[in-house]
Amino acid sequence: MYAGRAMVLQAAEAYDTGEDRKLGPSCAKYFCSEMAGRVADRAVQVFGGMGYMRGVVVERLYRDVRLFRIYEGTSQIQQVVIARRLLR
Ligand SMILES: Cc1cc2nc3c(=O)[nH]c(=O)nc-3n(C[C@H](O)[C@H](O)[C@H](O)COP(=O)(O)OP(=O)(O)OC[C@H]3O[C@@H](n4cnc5c(N)ncnc54)[C@H](O)[C@@H]3O)c2cc1C
Repeated sequence: MYAGRAMVLQAAEAYDTGEDRKLGPSCAKYFCSEMAGRVADRAVQVFGGMGYMRGVVVERLYRDVRLFRIYEGTSQIQQVVIARRLLR
């Protein structure tokens, strides 16, 4: 989570200055959405069976963060954007 926060702040700064408006945001979106999925998955595990039950906050978080890897550019599309930028 700390790495994700640092990446978002650096990407936001580079975006604001106009230095980079593609690579940083794609890296941050890709890294953070994958990280959030891993964190939510572990949280469900900590709660055991209760973490899987509807109505429990951690179950809702787990379901919600799954979408992060799909909307606003799927993880695979972020990889394509990142690869194109790096190959330039
Ligand atoms: C409830 C909900 C709300 C949503 N809200 C929003 C929203 O507000 N804003 C928003 O932007 N999106 C939103 N989306 C996501 C959007 O509707 C699409 O689902 C998303 O853009 C992916 O497109 P697709 O479903 O057509 O998948 P496809 O494009 O058919 O992709 C299917 C799979 O193939 C992979 N893939 C596709 N092209 C490539 C490629 N060139 N190289 C490698 N892999 C590839 C994808 O990564 C994915 O894993 C929402 C989705 C849901 C379910």
